[in-house]
Amino acid sequence: MSQTMRPETLAVHAGWRADPTTGSVAVPIHQTTSYQFRDADHASAMFALQELGNIYTRIMNPTTDVLEKRVAALEGGVGALAVASGQAASAFAVQNLARAGDNVVSSTALYGGTWNLFANTLKDLGIEVRFVDPEDPENFRRATDERTRAYYAETLPNPKLEVFPIAEVAAIGREFGVPLIMDNTAAPLLCRPIDHGAAIVVYSATKYLGGHGTSIGGVIVDSGNFDWAAKPERQPLLNTPDPSYHGAVWTEAVKPLGPIAYILRARVILLRDLGAALSPFNAFQLIQGVETVALRIERHCANAQRVAEFLAGRKGVTRVIHPSQQSGAPRTRADRYLKGGYGGLVGFELEGGVEAGRRFIDALQLFYHVANIGDARSLAIHPASTTHSQLNEAEQRATGVSPGYVRLSIGIEHIDDILADLDQALTAAG
Ligand code: PLP
Repeated sequence: MSQTMRPETLAVHAGWRADPTTGSVAVPIHQTTSYQFRDADHASAMFALQELGNIYTRIMNPTTDVLEKRVAALEGGVGALAVASGQAASAFAVQNLARAGDNVVSSTALYGGTWNLFANTLKDLGIEVRFVDPEDPENFRRATDERTRAYYAETLPNPKLEVFPIAEVAAIGREFGVPLIMDNTAAPLLCRPIDHGAAIVVYSATKYLGGHGTSIGGVIVDSGNFDWAAKPERQPLLNTPDPSYHGAVWTEAVKPLGPIAYILRARVILLRDLGAALSPFNAFQLIQGVETVALRIERHCANAQRVAEFLAGRKGVTRVIHPSQQSGAPRTRADRYLKGGYGGLVGFELEGGVEAGRRFIDALQLFYHVANIGDARSLAIHPASTTHSQLNEAEQRATGVSPGYVRLSIGIEHIDDILADLDQALTAAG
């Protein structure tokens, strides 16, 4: 499939045409653990990475392979790795570059789960994550030292919904040989971070890519545009002999295969050893989602825009958080980086604070009260008492969660029904 096709077309076609033996048009679910080798030479060539192919489903699977190729094509990358969850994608994306004693500079505007992973679990593993305010890209430079291995941020982070300065921070990183990893979960099709200089893109495919709230999954995309060997001392995991793979130096070993050192290492080392494999059935479900993501995201954006306008004119709502309501630098970035809409998320604060927020949530009838985003259904949550509750109040505020904040993930239902439900719940909240 030509990578020059439009994203709407790639989402339906990339990575698959038909099954060569059966002619099956839908991607088959290859529910198998392992694969019969042709002969002894074939088996050893695959283990030696002289030939890429199916060995064992913990590290690759033909159904998952289609998902990987499709998301890589959508993002303009050279390869991808699908994993069991978005959390696993974020963890692997960092662990593929940083080990104990190293550090990563991350935006403070993060999903709460990623914050926990970075502030606690990676810290316990000896990887320091330095959190910086993304409003000033130079903060990334200031936090960088000789052990900095990556920068990390989200394109459209909730709850603040202020778009990240991707090109500015990517350019600073490239001066040092430090790649920018972008979590693009909330902005598929609206933004391709690789086009703005990001080296790696991660997704929680659980959200808009899957789109139907059925399956947890994650994807890491390698842009192929980052020269890992240019400053070898900056990226030792890719430039020094790997004792767990016959002393392979990844940037050297993969040369015949293309610029895939990063994503191949993630697969054959991290997925091999840590085992967060996506099930083939979930890969199938996520492929179904990706096929319609372009249409859905249009509707999510249009509906969210209407909801933001409705809330902005509503008595009792003190603040509406949505790029359309922003001004200054965040709005300029939203208009620069998001094409085709401002995404499906809307936040707001009620005059009545926490108690009004709780009454509002309890009064909703159409909206589901769940800890998820990016579903076809409209969803609502009160982050301070749920998704962000493991953070202390200072940490919550640093990520943009105030006590009375309500987050909406606007679905693809008819806008009249969405607004009617919001209207009655706001009335009930008082
Ligand atoms: N990144 C973002 C922006 C998210 O919203 C989430 C989940 O809410 C994750 C990563 C983690 O993804 P998962 O729940 O698939 O592990």
